[in-house]
Amino acid sequence: MTDVFRIAALAENSAEDSFTRLARYLSYAPISSDPESAGKVLELAHVLAGDLASLGMTRARLLELPGAHPCVAAEWLSAGPNAPTLLIYGHFDVQPVAGEAWDTAPHTLVRKGGRLYGRGAADDMGGWLSHLVAIEAWFKETGSLPCNVKLLLEGEEEIGSPNLEAFMEAYPDAFTADAMVLTDCENPSVDIPGLTVSLRGLLEIEVRVASAKSDVHSGLWGNVVPDSATTLIALLARLVDVDGRLRLGRRDVDPVWLAHSHDVPLTPDVIRSGARLLDGIAPLPDRGLSPAAWAWRQPAVTVLSTTFPSPGREKNAIRQSTSAMLSLRVAPGQTSAELFELVKAELDRNVPGGLAVTISELPGGSSSWDYVAAGPAFEAADRAYLAAWGRTPLRIGVGGSIPFVAMFGKRFARLPLVLNGVIDPETGAHGPNESMHIGVYTKTVKANVHLYAELAKALIPPTAR
Ligand SMILES: [Zn+2]
Repeated sequence: MTDVFRIAALAENSAEDSFTRLARYLSYAPISSDPESAGKVLELAHVLAGDLASLGMTRARLLELPGAHPCVAAEWLSAGPNAPTLLIYGHFDVQPVAGEAWDTAPHTLVRKGGRLYGRGAADDMGGWLSHLVAIEAWFKETGSLPCNVKLLLEGEEEIGSPNLEAFMEAYPDAFTADAMVLTDCENPSVDIPGLTVSLRGLLEIEVRVASAKSDVHSGLWGNVVPDSATTLIALLARLVDVDGRLRLGRRDVDPVWLAHSHDVPLTPDVIRSGARLLDGIAPLPDRGLSPAAWAWRQPAVTVLSTTFPSPGREKNAIRQSTSAMLSLRVAPGQTSAELFELVKAELDRNVPGGLAVTISELPGGSSSWDYVAAGPAFEAADRAYLAAWGRTPLRIGVGGSIPFVAMFGKRFARLPLVLNGVIDPETGAHGPNESMHIGVYTKTVKANVHLYAELAKALIPPTAR
C-alpha cells in the first residue's frame, strides 16, 4: 500500500473517534442568528482555536471585527514555499431550531441507522471536521502535510456572511492561497460525490398595488372601483407558466450539460422523499429539461409573504392596497438587474383597472455564480475522489444562493475553488432532524487525505516556477 492509501486508511479508522468531537462542538448550539447565543458562538470559537493548536496547526487564532461573530483561523506552512497553499473554508455556526419538530434533542448528537442526527452535523461541522481528521492522520503518519494548509472557519455563514468581505479586507493573509476548498456543499447521493460549480443568485422584490385612500365597502363599491387584492393576484399569475414555474428569463441549457444532468439521481422518488411531498403529489413535469436543469440553471420565483387579509381579519371590504414580497432565484450567468427588469416590465404593463404598481428591490440579494471546474486542481480532485469514493465527482449546481461562495467566487475568481461537503439529499439542512450520512463522511475524510497529496503534485505555486 502506498503511503497516501495507508494514511487514508488510518484516517478512515479514526473517523469514528471524531464523532465525540462532533458531539461536543454541536452541543454548543452556536446559533449565529440568535443574539442570546452570541456567547456560545464565541465560546466554541475559542474551543476550536485550542483544538486546532493541539492538532499541530500553528497560529490558531480568532479573527475579530466589531459587531461580528469571529472567524477561527490556523495554518501549517512548513511544506515550504515550493509547495502550494490550500485554504480550507468551513463554518461553525448553525441554523436555529425554534419551531421545528425534531425526533431527537437537536443539540445532542444521536446515531441512528447509519446517520448522525443533530443541528450542524452536516451543515457544516462534519464538513470541516472531515479535514481535521485527514490532517491529523497525515501528522500522525508523517509528521507533516504534503502542501501548506490554512483553515478558515466562519462564525456567521448562516446569517449570510455579512462580514466575510470585511474579514477578507482586514485579514488578507488568512485568505491568501493557491487553491481553496470550500466545504459546505452537497453530494447528489450517498454513493455519488459532487463538486459544486454553479449557484443561483437571490433577488427579493416587493410588488405593491394601491387603489384608494382607505378600505371601502365591497357591497357598495365592488365591480365599480378597482380591487388591489384581485389585481395583485392577476399580476402575480402573469409571472408563472401552467406548472407554476417562473416563465421569464429562461436560459438556454447546453445540450451536453443537459445530457449529463440526467446522471444526477433526482428521480421522482428521490424528489418526493427529499421534498416531503404528500402522497399522490408528483414532481413538476420535465418539459424537455431535467430536474437538475430546472433546479440549478433556470430562474425561479417564490412568494415570501403578502398583505392579503389573514384568517381572523376578514371583512367585506375592498382593500386600499395589497403587496407581496417575492424571492427570485437568479440563474447562473444571469444578473439580478437583468431579471428585475424582465419582471418589472411584465408587472408594469396594462395593469388591470389602471392601478398604480410599485416594484422595488429589497436589500440582501446575492449574485449568481457560474464556474468552469477544469484544470490541474480539478484533475487532482477527480483523482482524490476516485481513490476514496471509487468514482469521480459529478459537477453539480446549487439551486440556493450561498453568499460566501459568491464572495469567494468574485474575489478569487482566478483560483481553483473546489466546492465539496458532506451534505446528501436526505440531510435536511436548515430543517428538523438534520443528519449526516456516516459513509459520506468517512469517504470525504479519505478523499481529503488524497486531495492534499494530489494538489501538492498538481499545483506549483508561481513563486516556485
Ligand atoms: Zn452551511
